[in-house]
Amino acid sequence: MKKNAVISTRCKTCCPLFVIYAAIAAFLISYTVPAAASNTRRISNTGAIIVIDPGHGGHDKGVRSPSNILEKDITLTIARHLKTELTPQYKVFLTRTDDYQLDSASRTSHANHRNADIFISLHAGGGFRHQTDGFKVFYHKSANHDPDSATSRKDQWTQIQKRHQTNSQTLAELIAREIKGRFNPADVRVKGAPLFVLEGADMPAVLVECGYLTNPTRAEAMHQKKFSRTLAGSIKAALDAFWTEPPK
Ligand SMILES: [Zn+2]
Repeated sequence: MKKNAVISTRCKTCCPLFVIYAAIAAFLISYTVPAAASNTRRISNTGAIIVIDPGHGGHDKGVRSPSNILEKDITLTIARHLKTELTPQYKVFLTRTDDYQLDSASRTSHANHRNADIFISLHAGGGFRHQTDGFKVFYHKSANHDPDSATSRKDQWTQIQKRHQTNSQTLAELIAREIKGRFNPADVRVKGAPLFVLEGADMPAVLVECGYLTNPTRAEAMHQKKFSRTLAGSIKAALDAFWTEPPK
């Protein structure tokens, strides 16, 4: 209230300038930060827009397998299979369609500008031990959330995905369930973590880490078409269930 009082006493002399500055600030924020959305889903999945993000690309090769299979190639192959699997029921777009570099914010912005209903980022795991393997499906979970600190444009960006956290977690659990059914007995986990590529996404968003490329057996399997198709089938089944099964 005190701040409003200060503004009102200044209005006689600088009100026009204040209005102009406020309009410019509002435009800049709305350009980069989409309007607030509720934690609800669109009613039907028909024509829903899915943005798939093949992780890494270009100089950013990601994880490398012992036999030199690169994460950036695996993620693009899976993304292409997933696009084929989801089309034409869904409208599908890839954040990158070939081997080039893309920063994380551009990937998220791509989904926001498309008004996507779902954002799926694809990655592979990597570890120091060849035996380590497993699938992880992440949803964004802030490390420490302080709603009172949401004042700057950067802070607003970090708050966007929080509005969709419930749906993102549900989608992550559905994807994990479908992967378990198809890749059994692989280790499949759902995890909430602060992930930059997801935090500015204004829609339910998940990151699928589909096996450890540093595991030689898994890497060879991931290189096969059957793997991409099976994983794509798992994600499609999860998306279909996301709209047809009642929310928890
Ligand atoms: Zn990665």
